[in-house]
Amino acid sequence: MDNALAQVMPQLGRTYPPIVNGQTAPTAATFDSLNPSHRQQIVGRCGRASVEQAREAIAAAKTAFPAWRDTDPAKRADYLFRAAQLMRRRRFELAAWQVYECGKPRREADADVAESIDYCEFYGREMLRLATPRRRDVPGEENSYFYEPRGVVVVIAPWNFPMAILCGMTTAAVVTGNTAIMKPAEQSTVIGAKLMEVFQEVGLPGGVVAFLPGIGEEIGPALIEHSDVAMIAFTGSRGVGLHINREAAEVRPGQQHIKRALAELGGKNAIIVDEDADMDEAVQGVVASAFGYVGQKCSACSRVILLESVHDTFVARLVEATRSLKLAPAEDPGCSVGPVIDADAHQRILATIEKSKGEGRLVYAGDADSLKDEGYYVAPHIFADVSPSASLAQEEIFGPVLAVLRARDLDHALEIANGTSYALTGGLFSRSPEHIARVKREFRVGNLYINRKITGALVDRQPFGGFKMSGIGSKAGGPDYLLQFVLPRTITENTLRRGFAPDVGATEL
Ligand code: NAD
Repeated sequence: MDNALAQVMPQLGRTYPPIVNGQTAPTAATFDSLNPSHRQQIVGRCGRASVEQAREAIAAAKTAFPAWRDTDPAKRADYLFRAAQLMRRRRFELAAWQVYECGKPRREADADVAESIDYCEFYGREMLRLATPRRRDVPGEENSYFYEPRGVVVVIAPWNFPMAILCGMTTAAVVTGNTAIMKPAEQSTVIGAKLMEVFQEVGLPGGVVAFLPGIGEEIGPALIEHSDVAMIAFTGSRGVGLHINREAAEVRPGQQHIKRALAELGGKNAIIVDEDADMDEAVQGVVASAFGYVGQKCSACSRVILLESVHDTFVARLVEATRSLKLAPAEDPGCSVGPVIDADAHQRILATIEKSKGEGRLVYAGDADSLKDEGYYVAPHIFADVSPSASLAQEEIFGPVLAVLRARDLDHALEIANGTSYALTGGLFSRSPEHIARVKREFRVGNLYINRKITGALVDRQPFGGFKMSGIGSKAGGPDYLLQFVLPRTITENTLRRGFAPDVGATEL
């Protein structure tokens, strides 16, 4: 990793234009992607695609679609397997880019690259499974049920899993035979470009994937509203996701299909700590879940619900464990808390912390002062005695801010845990089989973890995604995911021939 960081460093500051139809497309304007650990450092100058370029990308994807749709699924899957292979070879280098561009500590950056590899392998294999038509033949009749791609898919990704999420949504679209336009988040554009490099290096045909960096608010509407777009795969915030869902429902002139929108959104995830929980495990699990990648994971724990009898001991230990975390630039091997993503996030989280002082008792406030001129650092903060209805306990913060809530008993804990509009991840630390069984039944979230941290879902092993306001769509890395990118068709043929087919060419016998 040291070597990779050193090798990538001199490459910072290059330009990354859009790539449409396999060709780079210069833009009139650019924007800079900065290193959040050292904000003076420009990681890349990114092409700021215009609305016109967004339309061109859609036109190119539409043209490329029929041939790609008719390409053998095994061949399509093979591109993914080769991409996985290439990413394995470039594993440290790709992680190094994430350390610089997204302020991801080394281990987390590596995990993101590993997840990208897993998506390629898993979706490749899933496509092979889905490629065999289901047959229900009876004498005289053949019935075949099979899947076809939808068309042009617009992929809009967040920055927090800068390669994995972009890679997962795009490879799912492409392996099923759709053509895709990748719109990376502004803050992780260079990593998006690196993923595009991988796709190009394995020889994915030009029109199949376009790389379209730009500002969401500028090119987003052109992409979402276009009548030639069949589907939008979005992961990001609730506000943008709901907007996309609404816009996708609108039928525009010339549009002959109903658009499909997938939206994987946020969470307000809770961990319940039971009276008989193993405190060593619970403290460690909560700290890792709440402050890993500075709380900037959709799966992060932002509420911890403590049963009355363990409340004070747990809070005291939680505070001490949090104090031991090292705030440092992401490239520092000892970094456990790096920077937040950008100036906006920095300001927003600090303002939330100020406002939260009226909603709870601040029991721990870390200090990020020593790094304040270097980058966008926010140290962990813990608030106790937070009311379940307070905005601190209801709204996603996406930063290192943890709310501690008291519960009288398990009923009360479950009521609090389920009492938000989100349902993404959740957890329980307990040694009581009865309580574990009950929480499994009654804590209604997409991914529930017992006696472990609630972040770090693995592709295939823990398919990931939620419901309620946490999103619509089937779990990423799960057995139903690819089905969202295809249309099922059935063909029935009557094979009973009645007499001979007339030979219209023959005039005499
Ligand atoms: P965001 O919604 O601000 O941005 C996501 C993407 O949407 C970016 O590419 C952005 O450019 C684009 N965008 C913004 N406005 C747009 C518009 N009007 N039209 C089209 N596109 C537009 O989210 P973010 O800050 O990048 O990511 C953080 C959020 O993502 C958090 O809420 C987090 O919980 C969520 N998230 C969810 C999951 C999940 O799997 N459920 C995973 C990761 C992140």
